[in-house]
Amino acid sequence: MSDVALSRRALLKRSAGAAAGTALGGLMAFGADLRPAQARAQELRIKEARAFPSVCPYCAVGCDTIVHAIDGQIVNVEGDPRSPINQGTLCPKGAAIFQLHVNPNRVQEVLHRGPGATEWEVWSLDQAMDRVAELTKKTRDETFVETFESADGPKTLNHSLGIFSLGGATMDNEWNHIHQKLMRGLGLVAIENQARI
Ligand code: SF4
Repeated sequence: MSDVALSRRALLKRSAGAAAGTALGGLMAFGADLRPAQARAQELRIKEARAFPSVCPYCAVGCDTIVHAIDGQIVNVEGDPRSPINQGTLCPKGAAIFQLHVNPNRVQEVLHRGPGATEWEVWSLDQAMDRVAELTKKTRDETFVETFESADGPKTLNHSLGIFSLGGATMDNEWNHIHQKLMRGLGLVAIENQARI
């Protein structure tokens, strides 16, 4: 982590602490200390929950989380203080992991909008996967180049420049390994992965 990031984090931490301190200080001036109540509320929220260690799915920093669930339903996600990576903290994106589970706006079906169409169609996952496979094969076959005529004679290429593969941060090592093999097997050379889309 850079000095800039460190100082920014330290500044935010201090600012948040100062703001909370001011608010609490104001209430305490009227005789109401809310800190025990806040701690108790947090305790009650996860009192009956089972805790599962997990990892934030968003980026390659790989912050550890604790997922609390009651009767199979996630009720809370927070940073794991035992982690040497994030030591209980989560960035704003990671702190919003809970809404991955509960957000009513989350799209849970495959939507397809054909060329020129104005409406989205609901597709089954099988239909979408078949279409991706069909287009991948078609593009690969149309753009595959076996040899290149150089000044020294023909050179073997066996590549396709028609497809670009971009992996995401939520793909784990095993998936990346298999994916890489598939892409190289197809002859792709433009294979990239990133940590934070
Ligand atoms: S998105 Fe944030 S919380 Fe998640 S792994 Fe990356 S830095 Fe950690």
